[in-house]
Amino acid sequence: MLNLEKTIKYTLEEKEMIAALDLASGKSWTKRTNAMEDLKKRLRKELDIIQEGRCAYCGNVLYVTSALEIEHIAPKGKDLYPEFTFNCKNLVAACSYCNGCHKKHSKDVVSKRHSEYEKCEFKIVHPYLDNPNDHILWTDDRKVIIERAASSPKGQFTISFFGLEEPPHTYERIKDYNLRKQLKDTPYEGRRLSNEEIAQLLDELV
Ligand SMILES: [Zn+2]
Repeated sequence: MLNLEKTIKYTLEEKEMIAALDLASGKSWTKRTNAMEDLKKRLRKELDIIQEGRCAYCGNVLYVTSALEIEHIAPKGKDLYPEFTFNCKNLVAACSYCNGCHKKHSKDVVSKRHSEYEKCEFKIVHPYLDNPNDHILWTDDRKVIIERAASSPKGQFTISFFGLEEPPHTYERIKDYNLRKQLKDTPYEGRRLSNEEIAQLLDELV
């Protein structure tokens, strides 16, 4: 789980466009206009930068081969939380595993609704409103093995909900840890790699 502080920022034009939408219909996000397509394209790019190419829920690198999808934490459907469709703190980029139909998808994760987004209560650890380090604990600072019993009840729910202990997520964390170890003390350490650099590294490592 990422600990997000920075949010996307809408331009004046985007704010005006959003203000003119019928949010209650639950269909505003899928409106097929050029302005909406441009907005979503820009949001994908901005979330990718804010999250440094990682999934907000599992923290693993977003799959290079699949498109980055924007995910609504409080689902946007008509009978769910359409009023938060464009709320900056309700939008994250997630991997297809966390956001797939067997995990989050459009499941309701709000435990207490409030007209102000930040006053809503969530069943899962919230990447913007919670500090994940208070809820999900690890056996050591490699952050590969989760210490479930020491995690908070909300953390434990999140671990089960996203399957954070399941093999796909654990394998990704091991791969990530190994890569970080290999990159230590190299010019690549601690920053996001370009596709060219990844290709070069693959050639060197394979
Ligand atoms: Zn994920």
